[in-house]
Amino acid sequence: MAANNQEPLSFARLVTLDERRPAYPQSLVELAYEQLLSMLVTMKIAPGAHIGIEALARQLDISQTPIREALTLLEAQKLAYKIPNVGFRAAELLTRREVHDLFELRLLIEPAAAAFAAQKAEDAALARLAGLAGEMSDAQTGNELAYAQFAEGDARLHHLVAAASGNRFIAETVEGLHAHLHIFRFLFKTNATTKALQEHEAIISALLARDPVAAERAMRAHLEASRARMNVVLEEQERLAAAQTPPVPDGTTRRGRSRRR
Ligand SMILES: [Zn+2]
Repeated sequence: MAANNQEPLSFARLVTLDERRPAYPQSLVELAYEQLLSMLVTMKIAPGAHIGIEALARQLDISQTPIREALTLLEAQKLAYKIPNVGFRAAELLTRREVHDLFELRLLIEPAAAAFAAQKAEDAALARLAGLAGEMSDAQTGNELAYAQFAEGDARLHHLVAAASGNRFIAETVEGLHAHLHIFRFLFKTNATTKALQEHEAIISALLARDPVAAERAMRAHLEASRARMNVVLEEQERLAAAQTPPVPDGTTRRGRSRRR
């Protein structure tokens, strides 16, 4: 199942899923997990909304137990959370502060991982990375599905670099952040992809050249540029929200307030 196995999940599948049951055999928990994940990342279930298990069970034609199990998996990915005696709610979108903090942590780990990978990666791992970068630059652009495919390739690329560092704990930390899942939830309606392709190519050329200094620098430059692109989207969303919501007395907008759990 996507929450546990080594393959990064398919964002492309998530944006194209409909709510009918697929013909291929799948466990009911997997089925419920994938449907709920799709609804959460494409915001068919709105951030912060109550997740009604009974209604979902009817809608998806799956009993309540697998839906509860799927929600527990989604809770581990911080896409849903449980309120005792009330039930599950969809997680809010990351706040601006959380986006900043997420990139701060990635900037601590991923450039170092790229430097290690330049020194330690097996040739086969570098060949896989080069192949992946090629596939990503051939992919189409300009629609939701294209962005989903980009996000999926991007997740795979960053996980491959972390794994190629040869340090299992670095790899687990990078994957455990679920950074791409949360960023995808923000950006799935945008098409902010093409710049990143060139930045990925710089990382991969440095890795192929076995140059740790250049690999570290290229990864840092890519993450800083990604963070800047995210900030543009965040500012735009805040501007839209401020236009729709009258300011509260302390001068912040409703969306700008941090949530309490
Ligand atoms: Zn990337």
